[in-house]
Amino acid sequence: MARSALVLGGGMVGVSTAWHLQQRGFDVVLVERREPGRETSYGNAGLIQREAVEPYAFPHDLQKLMQVALRQGNDVTYRLADLLALAPRLAEYWWNSSPRRYARISRGFEALIRYSLSEHDRMIDASGAGDLVRHGGWTQIFRTEKGFADGAAKARHFAREFGVESRILDSATLARSEPALRRAMTGGVYWPTPYSVTDPGALVQRYADLFTSGGGRIVHGDARTLSNLTGGWTVQTKDGPVSAERAVVALGPWSSDITQSLGYRFPLFVKRGYHRHFKWDGKLNTPMIDTDAGVALLPMARGLRVTTGAEFALRDAPPSWKQILGSERLAREMLDIGEAVEATPWMGSRPCVADMLPIIGEAPAHTGLWFHFGHAHQGFTLGPATARLCAEMMAGETPYIDPLPYRPTRFRYGRRAFPV
Ligand SMILES: Cc1cc2nc3c(=O)[nH]c(=O)nc-3n(C[C@H](O)[C@H](O)[C@H](O)COP(=O)(O)OP(=O)(O)OC[C@H]3O[C@@H](n4cnc5c(N)ncnc54)[C@H](O)[C@@H]3O)c2cc1C
Repeated sequence: MARSALVLGGGMVGVSTAWHLQQRGFDVVLVERREPGRETSYGNAGLIQREAVEPYAFPHDLQKLMQVALRQGNDVTYRLADLLALAPRLAEYWWNSSPRRYARISRGFEALIRYSLSEHDRMIDASGAGDLVRHGGWTQIFRTEKGFADGAAKARHFAREFGVESRILDSATLARSEPALRRAMTGGVYWPTPYSVTDPGALVQRYADLFTSGGGRIVHGDARTLSNLTGGWTVQTKDGPVSAERAVVALGPWSSDITQSLGYRFPLFVKRGYHRHFKWDGKLNTPMIDTDAGVALLPMARGLRVTTGAEFALRDAPPSWKQILGSERLAREMLDIGEAVEATPWMGSRPCVADMLPIIGEAPAHTGLWFHFGHAHQGFTLGPATARLCAEMMAGETPYIDPLPYRPTRFRYGRRAFPV
């Protein structure tokens, strides 16, 4: 008899998981409350970031910490009213960002990133989504001398340690290669190997179509109705209850809705982010991210998508448009963009874990329940790579990457992080 699974959540992570399980002979139903790829996997910067071999650390240098604390920059901000609630998670994030721990965590992160392009390639080819994907990399640009010096040093470090290709561009070379830039920058780092996607939500939809064309089913339902009264796992959907032997929680920033109700105390939080499209008939040779200012300039199907850096806030707190308005102002300094396409900006939440690694593995206290979430800044990049890992483990195959760094049982704080 075919093995069966419910995949909860139809973002990049869930859809990729559903396809990989299907490839291994599972009978899979994907449960989504909306359509696939309409949430975080829709609104991101659309970069498949082969260069992102280290996750985003919590700053340890005093100057940066002060800048964030005083909310002086546009790249990182926070919602004052939520700080107390977020403090334990942020403290843990800070602790994990100390150089020694961060070096170990980065090894686990790089092991996944290494396969990000090859695993997307496989799904892009199978789904015929090549028209949505541009090869040719992206360019990191800097507005301060210090930012450029640090960025160039990091690029050299990535080349030495991980073999990541880059080209360091001085101010004049950058200006020549991107004539649309209206403002002089101090320099740039061009990363040639990553991909960029012109419509991130559409790529997820293509992967979802690939899954349904292979016989998979997508149903509308609320994952929070998950129960295991019958031995397997059941969710209530618009088509009635749907059951399977196993269930995978791939709900991105909503994963905590399930894990908390089952008694797991994972150190999850979100970093919110915003985007807005602008009319623009200019040309950039590659997408750009102004790292010092935390603003990305992304030519996409709906116009020039401008995104923000991170906002520390509770997931469901009301949006604050300050950061995206800051990004818009900075974008206008750099490019001759026109009016906004949407009436209001988009907001989404990066699903973060305090040790910067996703959680992938079977739930310690619930047989047949699997966790697959917490991809933070790089879930669009990593979805297919971690989905393969998750599906291989569920199928009892030898995993292609050592799964140990991502195991759900790694969190212990004196008391266990999971129910016994
Ligand atoms: C501004 C911004 C820029 C970013 N840029 C990049 C980038 O360039 N590259 C990159 O790799 N990553 C980027 N990211 C991060 C990336 O977008 C996320 O890590 C990734 O999309 C997470 O995917 P996911 O499938 O885990 O979550 P999601 O895409 O959020 O999917 C979760 C799904 O679960 C569904 N769901 C939620 N609750 C329920 C429920 N109760 N019942 C049923 N379904 C439910 C939702 O509808 C949603 O479809 C960016 C993020 C932001 C915010």
